Amino acid sequence: MARIVMKFGGTSMAGIERIRSVAARVKREVAAGNEVAVVVSAMAGETDRLVNFCREASSLYDPREYDVVVASGEQITSGLLAIALQAIGVPARSWLGWQLPIQTTNAHASARIDEINADALITAMASGEVAVIPGFQGVAEDNRISTLGRGGSDTSAVAVAAAVKADRCDIYTDVDGVYTTDPRIVPRARKLSRVTYEEMLELASVGAKVLQTRSVGLAMKEGVRIQVLSSFDDPNNSATADTLPGTMIVGDDEIGDDMERQLITGIAHDKNEAKITLIEVPDKPGAVARIFGPLADININVDMIIQNIAHNSGSTDVTFTVPQAELARALDALAKAKEDIGYASLVHDSKVAKISVVGVGMRSHAGVASAMFKALADRGINIQAISTSEIKVSVLIEEDYTELAVRVLHTAYGLDAEDVVE
Ligand code: ASP
Ligand code: MG
Repeated sequence: MARIVMKFGGTSMAGIERIRSVAARVKREVAAGNEVAVVVSAMAGETDRLVNFCREASSLYDPREYDVVVASGEQITSGLLAIALQAIGVPARSWLGWQLPIQTTNAHASARIDEINADALITAMASGEVAVIPGFQGVAEDNRISTLGRGGSDTSAVAVAAAVKADRCDIYTDVDGVYTTDPRIVPRARKLSRVTYEEMLELASVGAKVLQTRSVGLAMKEGVRIQVLSSFDDPNNSATADTLPGTMIVGDDEIGDDMERQLITGIAHDKNEAKITLIEVPDKPGAVARIFGPLADININVDMIIQNIAHNSGSTDVTFTVPQAELARALDALAKAKEDIGYASLVHDSKVAKISVVGVGMRSHAGVASAMFKALADRGINIQAISTSEIKVSVLIEEDYTELAVRVLHTAYGLDAEDVVE
């Protein structure tokens, strides 16, 4: 017997038929004697629809009211799953974010979980009742509904798993594991049976979309074992999750000196970035702080930053990227700070993509970045910005070249599977 948290993404919850098969899968784990909590996403596409309503209402929406709107998608699916479970004889009830509560910070629309009171959950689970929890939502210090940022239900699931001290957190998604890259772009992508938290952190943060970045960081901090599994395997398969082949996300120690491991673990892409360039920023101390301060104040995450060579005039151009969804707010904040920063003009471009290569092997090998630049140059793909970390190299390119760049790099680093019939 184990205590497990099962998390189902939007595709698994899209419609009553799918919710029924989720219920059947949950029942399987309960029948095997496990204590189960389920964390659910909104139906696929629903959160986008709700976000669009907010944007339509005003591009400068109040994030507190945005949370009221977008948290509703998960309220619907959690109630529906509880109903579907009850209908097949599995005792179940929903627990909304404010009911547990899942206490978060006041950073509406991108709140962080401070604490989960798991007492009621543990009691319910021990009594054989399945706890169904809407992902993505909590209650902020101001006592209003909060949400955790897009993709936040993964973080909810890991936080619940940590709070109830679960043996495992199984994340069911529309892919059956973590791949070397997006298999829809590269049919020869390979499934990885194990990935380290750190690699997954980089892959998630650069758009591998399997898991929300913060969920991986939290799992690493709390030591939660995550297993990524397909929600679409054979519905007649009666195997429980502990026997299914997914990807386990584990600590460095579990990977050890695996000789078979490639230098590069995976290649990710992210089209949800927007590039902003401030032209003729005064080239003097404090200038950069005056640009990024106002953005930090409104919780906008700046990613790649380049400061160009100074013009003769004593000014310089500064280019950086922000999430596309935050572009309007960023432009507004920069316009308000124009005089203070002292830039001459501003240009922005959303038709960019970030491509990243990731692997712990990079720590001990040189030449990864230059191989990347050469492979892209050979195909005539221009690099607009670069950023690196210990185990990652990212470049910003024109969005139209995303697929080509991913394919070229997958081959260049020797990641293509040999035995795939395309
Ligand atoms: N429904 C939310 C979203 O689409 C949260 C999630 O699914 O993880 O971002
Ligand atoms: Mg997701």
